Amino acid sequence: MVLQKVSELGLYIHTPFCLSKCNYCDFPSWENSLQNKEEYISLLIDEINNRQAEFACKKAQSVYFGGGTPILLELADFDRIFSVIANNIDTGAEISIEANPTLSLTTEYLRGLKALGINRISFGLQAKQDNLLKLLGRKHDFNKLRDSVHAAYNAGIENINVDIMLGIPTQSIDDLTDTIASCIKLPIKHISCYGLIVEEGTLLKQNIDSGVYSLPPPEYERRMYYTARETLMENGFYHYEVSNFAKKGFECAHNLGTWKRKPYLGFGVAAASLIDRNTRRQNPATLKGYLKGEKPTYEKLSLEEEMFEYIMLGLRLFEGIKDEDFFNLYRVHILDVYGDKLKPSIEKGLVNITNGDIVLSLKGFDIMNTVLLDLI
Ligand code: SF4
Repeated sequence: MVLQKVSELGLYIHTPFCLSKCNYCDFPSWENSLQNKEEYISLLIDEINNRQAEFACKKAQSVYFGGGTPILLELADFDRIFSVIANNIDTGAEISIEANPTLSLTTEYLRGLKALGINRISFGLQAKQDNLLKLLGRKHDFNKLRDSVHAAYNAGIENINVDIMLGIPTQSIDDLTDTIASCIKLPIKHISCYGLIVEEGTLLKQNIDSGVYSLPPPEYERRMYYTARETLMENGFYHYEVSNFAKKGFECAHNLGTWKRKPYLGFGVAAASLIDRNTRRQNPATLKGYLKGEKPTYEKLSLEEEMFEYIMLGLRLFEGIKDEDFFNLYRVHILDVYGDKLKPSIEKGLVNITNGDIVLSLKGFDIMNTVLLDLI
């Protein structure tokens, strides 16, 4: 299976506003920050205008409005943003927006997004069960998610993703399969199924450290992952990346571009960019810093770092890494660089090599970090 829809240049636009902070979240998002919206959008627009040279006359094949909660912006706000990026977007580009099912989306709003060019929407469900949503600090229930999906679909945004989570404290395999079974009845094209990561500084971390909750044992989480994989594949969702499943033709072009290490330009607080494949730009990490005009940082990558990142990201894909693609970029074959280091993983059946292309086995996906550690 060759993935067709890879974005060659992606744009990422960050919206840092949230109505409340979820218990597990360490994303750059701030509650009670919406009063900064006007100032933030003006700075965002300035940033896009000032960085036109980075487009190097290329048009983006994907745009991703992430957050935070981008749907807290009004249509007029999006109108302002599109007025400065419209010329940088290719015809037929995938234009995605993240959406929180807590907010009821009106048909008028969704049609307005569609009219502006937004053609993909991603809802953060996480789980169907109210007790799990409460534990995560989410404010919606499954009915809200279902209504939002139908509203988006009826407004003409048919490329719909739902995020679900596994490995939540107290979550059972039955909870997970019930969540998946309910989601796949909806008109959705994509499911991201992520393992919960307990981040430092979050309320969830505090609750786990103090013994209020405990994480499921790793073997149980692995069983959850395999159950999710099997259920989704049986229902026509192709497993194309470690945590991502899609109906054929609905893989996320934006994320594929990232995993294939295509350039992307990120705008807004904490947004990262990969410029010319060899320079990383990082915008200020805090809203306060961004509003104050703090400068971004730049990091120039060595060729070794570039190649390692290419392998690290590419191995996430079920199609693996093509030696031809690697050679076209770096004028050297994968096995000439990593052949010796890959030997232990090949012997353990974690990596398969065919004509110089490298692909992780299913077992390899389970313990991907072991393979990557061998490569460092
Ligand atoms: S809605 Fe998303 S970005 Fe906002 S706090 Fe929750 S997880 Fe974080």
